[in-house]
Amino acid sequence: MNIGEGVRSANRDRVVGWRAWTVIETKDGVRLGSVIYDTVWQPTEQANAVCHCDRSHDAPAIACTCGFHAARDPVDALTYLHGRDEPRTLCRVLGEVRLSGLVIETEGGYRGAAAYPLRLYANDLEVVATLESIYGVPVRSPGCESGFATSSIAASAGSSPSSCSAARTLSWRTAASG
Ligand SMILES: [Zn+2]
Repeated sequence: MNIGEGVRSANRDRVVGWRAWTVIETKDGVRLGSVIYDTVWQPTEQANAVCHCDRSHDAPAIACTCGFHAARDPVDALTYLHGRDEPRTLCRVLGEVRLSGLVIETEGGYRGAAAYPLRLYANDLEVVATLESIYGVPVRSPGCESGFATSSIAASAGSSPSSCSAARTLSWRTAASG
């Protein structure tokens, strides 16, 4: 995600930003994955960053691009909801992520040493219910204005679109409002 050059170490050790994930099918079940790398985000444990640039330092480093990226503005993350997906990718979702450990502030966001999803947005109610139960975080459906999606909503959602349309819905809304 293009969040610009590293500016300084954030003086907070917990920062919230926006990013996109892939929702992938693994042998252990449905998981969140990195849009760019092969990182799989495991439930209940923080994902820990490693430097992919083959440099010998702990991620993130201010002059590098490593660390978990999070944008300050959700619009910057929306771009990553579209792309060429592997066959195991079910869809992509947008969400807020909490970065912890060392956090580098960049021009457009943050890069953190460790990360865990804080809140996710998915339109497909089956994906909503699955991610909510696996990751234990609130997953909102933009199509359901009444609040957090619950399994009862998911159960009555026989007419929901089968594809992941959260991304498109959010894109449209963002485009319409901006
Ligand atoms: Zn690095």
